[in-house]
Amino acid sequence: VAGVDSVRVALTAEKRGRKIIAIGSGKGGVGKSTLSANLAVALRKAGKKVGLVDADIYGPSQARLLGTEGIRPTAEGQKMDPVLSPHGIPMLSMAQLVKPGQAIAWRGPMAANALGQLIDAEWGDTELLLLDLPPGTGDVQLTMVQKYKPVGALIVSTPQDLALMDATRAIDFFNQAHVPIIGLVENMAGYECPHCGEVSDPFGQGGAQAAAMSMELPFLGRVPLDIGIRTASDAGTPPALADDDKTFAPIAQKLLDWL
Ligand code: ADP
Repeated sequence: VAGVDSVRVALTAEKRGRKIIAIGSGKGGVGKSTLSANLAVALRKAGKKVGLVDADIYGPSQARLLGTEGIRPTAEGQKMDPVLSPHGIPMLSMAQLVKPGQAIAWRGPMAANALGQLIDAEWGDTELLLLDLPPGTGDVQLTMVQKYKPVGALIVSTPQDLALMDATRAIDFFNQAHVPIIGLVENMAGYECPHCGEVSDPFGQGGAQAAAMSMELPFLGRVPLDIGIRTASDAGTPPALADDDKTFAPIAQKLLDWL
């Protein structure tokens, strides 16, 4: 990645005492946003002050996932104030900067500028800021990681995605940008039939864990392909809210251990 080393921004988020955690994927549709929203909830349940920036300019979905659709951020001073989700998570999404349903055709510098305003918002005492990146490894992602220096990146992939090397590209991207990789999360891992209970693996099994091992990366966990996850997410009630959540809490804990 050209120019990574030449960019040094004096005021990193870390110096302000806040840690940015990037959540990336090699391509769209692997569940990066779903995982980000649920991790935010699980981290909050673990007692952390956590905020979320939806930097996915191509498909911002956090307002829906966190139940803040239609709420526009306000600004008292120079900076934007995050919107508080019903579950107590301060968040800002690119979708909240445009009219509902409006296509976002940002040019690179414009997108980076708008994203910067979200990250530089009035986050108050937020300790951990999850950054739901756009899928892929392009210019916008590069600008973000250069400027805001996440303490680490979490990679989301489906087993299929890894087999097709998409996730590997994302891993390579963060390596070249000198952002440590916290670990790999496998999403849509196994499907339990709601009728007969039989577990099948539409995208193969164990691929992500094996890939993580071969790349010497921590494997943070597996999220099953589960209709309940999709319906709860679409309804703005992340499944990690459930008292008996055993899927997202362990991933959040591994993330905290890493920090
Ligand atoms: P990305 O952010 O990577 O583009 P999303 O989080 O928007 O992906 O997920 C894409 C679609 O897949 C959404 O409709 C979401 O509800 C669904 N989805 C994500 N993870 C799961 C899962 N583990 N089980 C069922 N549906 C899922």
